[in-house]
Amino acid sequence: MDKTNPNLFYSAGEAPGAPGLKGTRCGGCGKAALLEVPVCPVCLSRDVKPACIGSKATLTRFSSVFHSADGFEAPYVIGHIHTEEGPSTFAPIIGDAATLKQGMKLKFSLIERGPSGKTGFAYVLDAG
Ligand SMILES: [Zn+2]
Repeated sequence: MDKTNPNLFYSAGEAPGAPGLKGTRCGGCGKAALLEVPVCPVCLSRDVKPACIGSKATLTRFSSVFHSADGFEAPYVIGHIHTEEGPSTFAPIIGDAATLKQGMKLKFSLIERGPSGKTGFAYVLDAG
């Protein structure tokens, strides 16, 4: 699978709980962080392990974008999400901005991105 950015996410089977965002779980304080980092940003412990996070998230804020950019065909929605594990980040949201609401439950989803055929990700409404 050819990914848009291999540093950002796991596809199914690449980590326990995948697909989801690449993250780090601290053995010292137990907190999760975005991306694979060598030191816990909360307690500075080096007892950290890569972990899949963000399979489920909550939508906090969002906005429609009306300019296409690098495989994102406008209009699209960008959202600020709060992952179930704690960290927050921005991510593309698949959905109509007119029907999205703060607090909606989302799930991570792999999607084909643009004419390159590369695999990227977005969040979709989690009905279940
Ligand atoms: Zn820690």
